Amino acid sequence: MPAITVENVLVLPRVSDPGPAAPERSVVSVTTAPSGFEGEGFPVRRAFAGVDLRHLDPFIHMDQMGEVEYAPGEPKGTPWHPHRGFETVTYLLDGTFRHQDSNGGGGLITNGDTQWMTAGSGLLHIEAPPEELVASGGLFHGFQLWVNLPRSLKMADPRYQDIRAGQVSLLTSPDGGSLIRVIAGDLDGHPGPGVTHTPITLIHATLEPGAQLRLPWREDFNALVYTLAGSGFVGAKKQPVRLGQLAVFGSGGALTIEAAPQQESRSPKLDVLILGGQPIREPIAAYGPFVMNTKAELMQAFEDFQAGRLGTIPAGHGPGL
Ligand code: MN
Repeated sequence: MPAITVENVLVLPRVSDPGPAAPERSVVSVTTAPSGFEGEGFPVRRAFAGVDLRHLDPFIHMDQMGEVEYAPGEPKGTPWHPHRGFETVTYLLDGTFRHQDSNGGGGLITNGDTQWMTAGSGLLHIEAPPEELVASGGLFHGFQLWVNLPRSLKMADPRYQDIRAGQVSLLTSPDGGSLIRVIAGDLDGHPGPGVTHTPITLIHATLEPGAQLRLPWREDFNALVYTLAGSGFVGAKKQPVRLGQLAVFGSGGALTIEAAPQQESRSPKLDVLILGGQPIREPIAAYGPFVMNTKAELMQAFEDFQAGRLGTIPAGHGPGL
C-alpha cells in the first residue's frame, strides 16, 4: 500500500491534541461492507451498505476498489455512463486508472493521486485501467466516494480537479505514530488540496501497530471511519474494526482510532479513511448514476441523458470501450 509515505514522520507538522475537555464522539454503528462487482466486473466493497443516509449526509456512496492482484489481460473498468447532481472522488492507493469525461476533463491517476469530478448538471465519463496495465496486470487498490451537492448546486457546471500525491498535506499525531494525509478540506487548521462545494474533510491515515490517533473534529461535521487495511479499535470504548468495516460516530469534538498491537503480516499497519462533512439535510432521490432532490428531477435526468443533453462520447471511442 504505497499511496504516499515519508521516511520519517517526525519531521512533519503535528496535529494538536484536542485535550481532555473535548467531548469524545461515541461509535453509533460498525457495519461490514458486502463485496460486489462494478462496471465491467472489478471487485468492490460497498462501504456504506446498510447505513442510514442521514448518518452519511453529505456522503452518498463509497466503493473500496480491490485490493486485487490482476493477471495479465484481466484489469477492468466501466463503460461510458452519465452522472448528475453530485461529485465523485477517486483516490488510488496502488495501480493506475484513467478517467475521461464528455466535458473535456480527465487524466491518469496512480499511487496516491486523487481525481475530483463535479458532475453537477451532468456529463458522461469512463473510468478504466490504461492499456499497459491491462497487458501487464498488477496490483489495484483505491476507492471512489460520492459527495452530494445541495439543491442550489446540483445544476452547477461540471468541474474537474487532479490532485497529485505530492500535493496532499502530510501531518503526524502528537506521539508520531500516525501518518495523516489530508486530501481535502481541513484538519486542525491544516488545509488539504481538494476544493469542495460541500464543506468536507477527507483523510487517509496510516497507524503503526499500537498507535493511538485522537483527532480534533469539527462539531458541525459528521464523522465516518472506514478500515482499508489492518485492524484496530474506534471510540473511547475501543470497539474493534477490521478491513472492510465502517464506523459511524455520534456528535462531539474529538474522535479516537487505535491500531491493534498485532497486525497481520500481509498488512502490517492500520489504514483508515476518515471522512466528515456538513450535512445538507435535503430530501434525496437517488437512482443509479443520478442523485437529485425529487423523483421528477430524476426522471428529467434520465430524459436529458437519453436526449444526449448530458453530453456525447468524444470521437474515437466506442460506446463501451
Ligand atoms: Mn462514474
